Amino acid sequence: MKITSNSPWSPEDSRRLYGIEHWGKDRFTINAEGQVCVQADLDNRSIQVSLPEIIAGIRERGYDLPVLLRFTDLLDASLKNLHQSFNRAITEQNYTGSYRGVFPVKVNQQRQVIDEICRIGATLGHGLEAGSKAELVLALACLPDSGLLILNGYKDSEFIDLGLWATRLGYQCFFVLESPAELPLLIERSCALGVRPLIGVRTKVSTKVGGLWTETSGDRSSFGLSTPQLLTALDQLKTAQMLDCLQLLHCHLGSQIPDLADIHTGVTETCRFYAELIAEGAPMGYIDLGGGLAVDYTGSGSTPHSRNYNLDSYCHCLVTTISECLDPLKIAHPQIVTESGRATVADSSALFFNILGATQFDVDDELTALSGNSDPHIEQLKSLHDKLEQQDLGHSYQLALSCRDAVRDSFRAGKLGIRQRAVSENLFLAVARKILSEIPADASLPPQLVGLRRNMADIYYGNFSVFQSLPDTWAIGQIFPLLPIDRHTEPPCRDVMISDLTCDCDGKIDNFNLGGIQRPTLPLHPLESGKDYILGVFLMGAYQETLGDLHNLFGDTHTLNVKINADGNFELQQEIEGDSIGELLNYVEYEPNDLCEKLRLKAEKAVRAEQLNAADRRKLLEFYRKLLQGYSYFKD
Ligand code: PLP
Repeated sequence: MKITSNSPWSPEDSRRLYGIEHWGKDRFTINAEGQVCVQADLDNRSIQVSLPEIIAGIRERGYDLPVLLRFTDLLDASLKNLHQSFNRAITEQNYTGSYRGVFPVKVNQQRQVIDEICRIGATLGHGLEAGSKAELVLALACLPDSGLLILNGYKDSEFIDLGLWATRLGYQCFFVLESPAELPLLIERSCALGVRPLIGVRTKVSTKVGGLWTETSGDRSSFGLSTPQLLTALDQLKTAQMLDCLQLLHCHLGSQIPDLADIHTGVTETCRFYAELIAEGAPMGYIDLGGGLAVDYTGSGSTPHSRNYNLDSYCHCLVTTISECLDPLKIAHPQIVTESGRATVADSSALFFNILGATQFDVDDELTALSGNSDPHIEQLKSLHDKLEQQDLGHSYQLALSCRDAVRDSFRAGKLGIRQRAVSENLFLAVARKILSEIPADASLPPQLVGLRRNMADIYYGNFSVFQSLPDTWAIGQIFPLLPIDRHTEPPCRDVMISDLTCDCDGKIDNFNLGGIQRPTLPLHPLESGKDYILGVFLMGAYQETLGDLHNLFGDTHTLNVKINADGNFELQQEIEGDSIGELLNYVEYEPNDLCEKLRLKAEKAVRAEQLNAADRRKLLEFYRKLLQGYSYFKD
């Protein structure tokens, strides 16, 4: 589809273009007024609330953008859906074990998220997975004592002791052996504290899974016991007369696994280990398949950012694969544990930021009309521009590039002046624009035109930091759905890359997916003077808050928990103000009072030198103090 400022446009076109029907299914949509809405099922009705209205309400309450919204209803729904899907598969397959989920704390440790998971989890039997001492300290305080506690990660004696105390408090707490060194320590500490632990072993399966983490799956995964190490652990348990403690087999195939066939193969291999452990005399009873349930970030079905299955088929695959492997051996169906992280929380958070301005690579028509240049390359550019329709687009673009570069060479050599260079650059832009206008917005470019879209794209400057709020876009090229929250009755006729506020050329978003095609630019609307243009980045509740950093001292954004009400309104349940500049400076060891004192001395010196008067000194110090208390992001 070619999008120009005159294209007829409807919310339906936007739904299709931005793929919201796929990645936003049941949670986000675009209404007839062209506004993006969040939706929740309440009292058996689907309630929609417009995001522009929520953002307006938040601003009226005094919050500036950027802001991170957490949609409590979506978090609750995703936990409930996970359990319902497993329970359905279990009933359909006459599976005799049950499903026990745990949330891996590392995926989002924020208190409001963990509290909500524990609150809803209490009714579902959902527990927590802790991968470090700090996470266990947190889990022990927050998880109701009916909850399952899975301890992964390398464990020292303090970690083990706290887990043993958790066992004494009544938690069903599994110590999952990640490395050979842990077992002797666990045996020693459990004897010392007189607690019989529940033990799990994490095994390395050889199945390699596709997706972004393919290199660390299979034999090269960093965690878990190899088959020889597993045998040694079995022997150690037998010697210590603790084989009865071994009840769980753990296997994490990888995160964001796009292909269900890989999951099937990995689960089959895990079941073989499970059967062998039973044959060795371990009682077993639990099979923990870790994370890996993918989030459909793009709706494309195949790329690493999507998946070729849905939640129901995932649950069905796990349940049937386990029963098909174990039934012939007459092994009782184990309890199925999964540690879905991103699929549990990704939906529930979205970041909203405003666009502050744009750089555009537009053509100056007057300059294009100029002719009579004696330079042959400029003449050739002019002729390319005038007769483009009749020519091969890829070839024309390559020719235009070489003419433009030849003019640049002549400029460098002092043979052409600044005016000729301007005419040449402008003609090149005109040719490139003309070529681009021939290609539909959602089409991929032929090899000769690679780079064209990127070179011609506008740059929109967003009021946010990639490194603080969306670190995975920079670190692993993660694609998150991104679109304007309003104006979906107008054609998004500009092709745009997004730059953030940091002074870092990596602080950008230039990786999008439209209709299954990965591309560096996104169609957005032209900016309107004096009016806000707000973008939302969706499905970013997993890992982003935790991994975000303070590049350029942009801090945590405001974070607000939004609850949708059955009457179609919303309320803010929790409000966490973003970092102030003073707090940020404090993280990097500057004491705000010290800074004020240093500035006071400088200002006083300036008064003595008659560079400032006393009243200006006061104004400066007040302003400086106010900034220390203020938000680190751009203020209109
Ligand atoms: N469990 C373990 C042991 C992990 O290492 C991870 C993440 O890599 C997870 C669970 C969560 O995985 P995901 O976010 O793909 O569900």
